[in-house]
Parts: sequence; structure tokens; C-alpha cells
Amino acid sequence: MISEEKHSYEELYRLGKGELESAGISEAELDARLLLEHVCGTNRNDLLVHGDREVAAAEQNVYERLLAGRKERIPLQQLTGRQEFMGLEFAVNEHVLIPRQDTEILVEEVLRNLYDGMRILDLCTGSGCILISLLHYSNDCEGVGTDISAEALDVARQNAQKLLGIQAGAGDALTFHGTEESAENRDGRISFIQGDLFEKVEGKFDIIVSNPPYICRNVIETLMPEVREHEPLLALDGGEDGISFYRRIMEECGSYLCGGGMLFLEIGYDQAADVRKLMEDAGFLEVSVVKDYGGQDRVVYGTKPFA
Ligand code: GLN
Repeated sequence: MISEEKHSYEELYRLGKGELESAGISEAELDARLLLEHVCGTNRNDLLVHGDREVAAAEQNVYERLLAGRKERIPLQQLTGRQEFMGLEFAVNEHVLIPRQDTEILVEEVLRNLYDGMRILDLCTGSGCILISLLHYSNDCEGVGTDISAEALDVARQNAQKLLGIQAGAGDALTFHGTEESAENRDGRISFIQGDLFEKVEGKFDIIVSNPPYICRNVIETLMPEVREHEPLLALDGGEDGISFYRRIMEECGSYLCGGGMLFLEIGYDQAADVRKLMEDAGFLEVSVVKDYGGQDRVVYGTKPFA
């Protein structure tokens, strides 16, 4: 609690920063500023040139509530409800993994291989950030996103509507060729299906992409509290050895990928050898590993041979 009295914009920023610092939040300065901007609808300039600006009591109350949340290690993005990814602003909440900058490498690799009219399947779509970015930066492609979590898919649909300007279908009985699907259930460009990986998916795709959960189960407890306590465990837990989803994807993807189609996977920094081997053993050709901007292995991809 900052205090009952009224404070100027700059005073609130300083008080907020102090509170977050004493709670041990590492980016206290940035977080205090971003939360204040979120509450007041301001931007960085306001602190520099309008620091003496009055802040309404209601805004101050909200700011204090958000600071309290941040002190409990709720991620900044869950407090503001958004995260930028590929230059687009995605809605997020506690039901989806917050889109990571590293995942932009995965999207960029797919974009290099994406042609107009292709069909894309995004497994474990979460906020939908991968699939929606791919459709936003291409022409006439169609996408299906799957996730086991209905709450995550609500977020993905909301993002598709906002960023692609379309209403994504409920997709429960989706087939790409539309045999079982009613018109209202499909808008032609993007659909979301609730299911475990390929469950309920039908048809063939030119590109399959996924950033599946890939953290070893016993490593999760060592992650920062923001992740460990507030991001969905379902989106993190990659099983005992961290690679259970890659194994399952490799076993099942053959029937959903066209000949010459490509599979793109985000991986943990130490999983390249294992995932490359899984892909090669599954018969993929030209299997490659791509590093992120931090120099860590981040993406593995390969091509399914023609028949
Ligand atoms: N595909 C989403 C993302 O990359 C969610 C990933 C996940 O839940 N593991 O952000």
C-alpha cells in the first residue's frame, strides 16, 4: 500500500519502483513504469515531461493492486494482459504460456519456407501466437491450431479475431475439406481444435509447427516463481526427460504431413541432438538445427520425403 494521500505521476512511479525493489523484483524500475503506463494509458514520455501530472484516485488504486500482484511474482504480462510477439500485440492470461522472444526464431524459420496457399498445423497453440503470426505475415494460407486446454483456446480465438480480424471457428469437428463442418464453424483461414496433439485433427498439411512443453519435470521447481507458480504447468511440463512431446509428434505426424511437407519444432537449448535423432529416425530429410540470437540451439526442422 503506497498511502492514502494523493501523489503525482512521478511520485507514484518512484514509490512503485521502491516497493518492487524491496520485494526483490529484478526489473523493478521497468515494471513500475510499465504498470503505471498501463493503468493511466500513458507512455514513456509522460514520465519524462509530465511527471507532475495528477493521477486519479481510481487509477492510483488500480496501480497499487497491480504492484501487489507483481510483488507476488505474477508476471507483468498477466497483469497488463498483453505481450508483443512478432510486432503484434497478443492478449495473454494465466491459461497460456506468455509468448517468448526466442519463439520468434521458430516463426521466422517457418516464414522462410512458407508459400501462398499453404496449410499449417500448429500443435500446442496456446495464445495462438505462432499460427496467428504466420497467417498475418503471409497470403492465402490456412491454419489449424490445437491445444488440450479449452481456456487457452479462448485466448487464441480472441487473438485471431483481434489480429486477423476474423472469427475463428470452434472447430470441434473440423476437417480441412469441410465435410463435417458447418459454415458458422469455419471462416476458411483459421480454426482451433481442443484436443491432445493430433487428436481430432483431420486432413494433410504442408507445414506442421510446434512449441510444445519441453521442460524436464524435475527442473520445473527450479524455475523463477513467475514461471513456476503462475504460468500453466500444462504448457511447461515435457515429461520426465523433457522430450515426451517430440516423441509423440514424431510417431504421429507422418499421416498429417504432405510428402515434401516440413516439420518445425522449438526445442530447449540442450535438446538438439535428441530431437534431431528422433526426426532422422522418423525418416525426415535435411534435418537442421537453428540457433537463437543468444547462440543457443532453438529450432529443429526437417522435410518429409515424397512417398
Ligand atoms: N505455442 C505457444 C507459444 O509458443 C504455446 C506453447 C506452449 O504452451 N508450450 O507461445
